[in-house]
Amino acid sequence: MSLLPQPPEGRKTSWIWKNILKPLAEPSNNFVNAIRFKLGDGRRINFWEDFWTEVPSLKLSFPRVFGLVLKKSGKVCEFGSKVEGKWIWLFKVHIALFSWEQAVWDEFIRIINEGAADSGTMDVLKWEHASNGVYSAKKFCELESALGSTEDKIWKLVWSGLAPPKVEGFLWKVILGRIPTLVELDKRGALHSSSTRCALCSKDEETVNHIFCLCEIGWKVWSKNGVVFNNLVYNEQKIFEEMLLMLGFWCKGKWHTSTCSINEFVRNPVLIALEEFRCID
Ligand SMILES: [Zn+2]
Repeated sequence: MSLLPQPPEGRKTSWIWKNILKPLAEPSNNFVNAIRFKLGDGRRINFWEDFWTEVPSLKLSFPRVFGLVLKKSGKVCEFGSKVEGKWIWLFKVHIALFSWEQAVWDEFIRIINEGAADSGTMDVLKWEHASNGVYSAKKFCELESALGSTEDKIWKLVWSGLAPPKVEGFLWKVILGRIPTLVELDKRGALHSSSTRCALCSKDEETVNHIFCLCEIGWKVWSKNGVVFNNLVYNEQKIFEEMLLMLGFWCKGKWHTSTCSINEFVRNPVLIALEEFRCID
């Protein structure tokens, strides 16, 4: 079994799983490109294909060596073993090396030895943008913004640390429209009902916008939650004002040294918060 799931095969694979794995097959995906394998016992890393040495794929970087050796696939542990902390490799070639090939072979051995240096007890995945190798959604968004691929400043607000991480993650999905509403399910061919109209009010299509901003019944449910909206009777304007006030308190709580008052945050929350981010930068 590999550390990274293999691309799904066959029609029976669910669309959810297919969509989760989709980025793994995208060569320009910045998240996937930053994944590295750190060698441990070599039981879950593909020797030729996985990015466990300084080159992304030994197969592509050393086509001549790949052509010479008999074993064309398998995990790292099938190509060598660790003896007293050092990996010893065992390759069978089907013809003797020409003298000019020796230098290529030596370079190949150097690279796999370096990849195997300091190997631990288990194979692990590392994210190269973090010194500890652990992926961070916040860091990833910062990198994406720096690349210019996410220019919209809304993302800085989403990942500002105002709300708990799971709320930030949820908000991120809401803004991207990645909530399984009936309309989204229909787009993916996974709708189990005959209509995409809102299951609560039936007045409109069940989109993210409808569920979170426009559905009157949805808002009644929210407003009954006294913690959030203090039993407000549904009124778009009132609820919006209430949300702004809450945002003002959050902003003042986070940037308590700011000269802006809660009222100023409330009057112009986006611009003032962006101003704060600029100060932090
Ligand atoms: Zn509705």
